[in-house]
Amino acid sequence: MRGLATGKTSDGRTMVADPAGRNGSAARYAWRAAAGLAAGLAVAHGGPGITAIGPVRKALFPRLSGRGAADHVALTFDDGPDPESTPGFIELLGGRSVRATFFLLGSMATRAPQLAAEIALAGHEVGVHGWDHRYLTLRGPRATRDDLARAVDAVAAATGVAPRLYRPPYGVLNGGALIAVRQLGLTPVLWSSWGREWSRGATPESVYAALTRDLRGGCTVLLHDSDCTSPPGSAQAALGALPMLLDECERRGLRVGPLGEHGLR
Ligand SMILES: [Zn+2]
Repeated sequence: MRGLATGKTSDGRTMVADPAGRNGSAARYAWRAAAGLAAGLAVAHGGPGITAIGPVRKALFPRLSGRGAADHVALTFDDGPDPESTPGFIELLGGRSVRATFFLLGSMATRAPQLAAEIALAGHEVGVHGWDHRYLTLRGPRATRDDLARAVDAVAAATGVAPRLYRPPYGVLNGGALIAVRQLGLTPVLWSSWGREWSRGATPESVYAALTRDLRGGCTVLLHDSDCTSPPGSAQAALGALPMLLDECERRGLRVGPLGEHGLR
């Protein structure tokens, strides 16, 4: 990350400065994902990859950005399961009869396996977000694969479901990660709209305002159901914004659901 531009990372969790580190269906899509991303590999080997630059990614890698059906919004949550905050999300979503995708950290799932199981039992889709929340470019290819495999095993053991979707911490994919996801049959999916609830002083209103900037049919929304890598109160701000988001989608006639029903291209 030497000499790279500063900026918020895609997941917004650290101040790691890296222009390629921004922003960053099922197994049958895995090979296609890897093939589709091959264009990014040349860059990815030289650095973390242009896949992480929001506007570039959206234009060149629509599938990686989570672009789906025009009348559908994919709702995704990262960094859980967290006993402090995830239950509030499960309850709210259940009350609205909305299902979503939760990208779980293996380390968190191991600490709260029952909560991880509850997420799946409530009908939500479970993806994997790595074992712990480390920047992938700090790892070698083998360590990346080991981390992912460990996370997949932990999430599968806790939920009884083998995760097929992967979202890397900070939205950064590199060559090693792409090889690992292919080996493990995972499909990487980032996002196209976020709430920036990790910003200090974030409120439900600020999160909602950030979300609606890029909210449109076919988008994938990123929120966090845990504060484990962000300032305290982040998840609460996200939770507070969620009803407003769901209302707005309803008003626009957009269906909301997990990535598995998003019609990822
Ligand atoms: Zn994260």
